[in-house]
Amino acid sequence: MNHFPPVTIDQLLDYDREHLWHPYTSMIDPLPVFAVASASGVRLKLEDGRELIDGMSSWWCAVHGYNHPRLNAAMQKQMEKMSHVMFGGLTHRPAVELAKLLVEITPAGLEKVFLCDSGSVSVEVAIKMALQYWQERGRPEKSRMLSLRSGYHGDTFGAMAVCDPVAGMHNLFSGVLPRHLFAPAPGCAFGEDWDAADIEELARFMETHRGEVAALILEPVVQGAGGMRFYHPRYLEEARALCDRFEVLLIADEIATGFGRTGRLFACEHAGVSPDILCLGKALTGGTLTLAATLATKEVAETISQDGGVFMHGPTFMGNPLACAVALESTRMLLESDWQGRVREIEAGLNKGLAPCRLMPQVQEVRVLGAIGVVELKKPVDMAQIQKKFVDRGIWVRPFGRLVYLMPPFVISAEDLKTLCAALVDVVGEEG
Ligand SMILES: *Cc1c(COP(=O)(O)O)cnc(C)c1O
Repeated sequence: MNHFPPVTIDQLLDYDREHLWHPYTSMIDPLPVFAVASASGVRLKLEDGRELIDGMSSWWCAVHGYNHPRLNAAMQKQMEKMSHVMFGGLTHRPAVELAKLLVEITPAGLEKVFLCDSGSVSVEVAIKMALQYWQERGRPEKSRMLSLRSGYHGDTFGAMAVCDPVAGMHNLFSGVLPRHLFAPAPGCAFGEDWDAADIEELARFMETHRGEVAALILEPVVQGAGGMRFYHPRYLEEARALCDRFEVLLIADEIATGFGRTGRLFACEHAGVSPDILCLGKALTGGTLTLAATLATKEVAETISQDGGVFMHGPTFMGNPLACAVALESTRMLLESDWQGRVREIEAGLNKGLAPCRLMPQVQEVRVLGAIGVVELKKPVDMAQIQKKFVDRGIWVRPFGRLVYLMPPFVISAEDLKTLCAALVDVVGEEG
């Protein structure tokens, strides 16, 4: 450990192993990591010279691929004006223009925008909004969240408390987390016939707990990190109706699904539903900088603000101009592009490319929606082993548990998508 700055790749990896936490890993027995030197288009270039086709969009974010000249230019241009100023008492063009665009493109009725730092924080903000809303309505007893099993909403304490209690590693912290309510995960899959029984349990929860529930929080149509499940849009439509009937706010967490990933710009559109509060993040900046947004209806915002009320949140880096400028450019690029056509082509490519997995005895199910392809295995994968196999075959795929999945940048070529799927099929084929 006496080589610093690190000269060789091994020295770099040694220091990393000794001193850097990676997501969800041990500091004694960490999973192997690979050093990236640069990234461009859909390719990650490793320090050792190898190139990987990216199947992850860096966790749903890099929809335009890496190192995009237009995103780089937007950041450079903004940097020369200012990278950051506080948002308390000050405002700026990037924040205002971004807010205007988000209000225009998100489901109807969402008019008030809170810009914050990360997805988890936008969920914290949404929960706070729901709590303050019912306090101002004179019903402070409506202070619990209703969430769905297999849901994922982030890693901070408020967000963690509404994640699936089992899959969300909840139990470690169960003593200190607020106790919310969990309805069963939607059972009816996207593309199946709708079964009205699927919503009954949620209806019962709502009816029983209407007096104490502030909001229902869910990921519309696609449950992401809690299980990569695609459910029937009718469930969402019925959930919206139940919220109206039982006076419960609806929080849609579109942090993963937003910006086209499911084939609609926002997954709520599959059901023609508008939430009361909407969380955005991940692909918002095209995978360049961290930024998230919580949008609320006029009703929610004005209720919170009545009688001199103020919304009690204000992060240091709120509305960061650099992040806002690149989010604006990324979203404009998306809207100017034929993203719907691209996502349809990727959907077809994933269906075709992953089809061989459907016949494998070790595979439980293969499902594809928009630019998301999931191979669910019967047994959990050995992460260290399978990760190395993917890299050896020139692709970047990061499974979790029994789930091996692809969500490539929208700019991926047909050829690269084919290679990506074929390599994944080979590796899954070797799983016992
Ligand atoms: C990733 C994610 C979050 C958390 O976002 P971070 O930026 O990691 O804090 C919340 N909700 C959903 C649905 C997500 O996919």
